Amino acid sequence: MSETTETIFSKIIRREIPADIVYEDDLVLSFKDIQPQAPVHILVIPKKPIRKLDNAESQDHSLMGHLLLTVKRVAEQAGLKNGYRVVINNGDDAGQTVHHLHIHILGGRQMKWPPG
Ligand code: 5GP
Repeated sequence: MSETTETIFSKIIRREIPADIVYEDDLVLSFKDIQPQAPVHILVIPKKPIRKLDNAESQDHSLMGHLLLTVKRVAEQAGLKNGYRVVINNGDDAGQTVHHLHIHILGGRQMKWPPG
């Protein structure tokens, strides 16, 4: 794997560093955020090291759909019956800090709008 795609999330996928994993299959991994911003804060990532949403390609069509359906599954599993927020930080202006595509699931409290 090249330097440009190696991140802390690659290490979590390879079990080189621990994470509180809540769901896994061949294509995706989901684990609790280490610095939760809500009572429930879970990340869903593709195992394929796509740096950010902008780097997803047409060949990733079904993977992207699978990611969103995994969000729904994980949110249900976490008991978020009253709703939740789904966030993708894409690039610097959005404040993306880990350069491996990830979807945030935030829930367990009332969210505000607009986000900061
Ligand atoms: P971003 O700001 O890039 O959208 O989100 C990255 C998220 O990854 C942050 O919410 C941050 O707390 C989380 N994070 C960073 N490093 C780790 C880690 O080693 N383990 C876990 N579980 N989450 C991490």
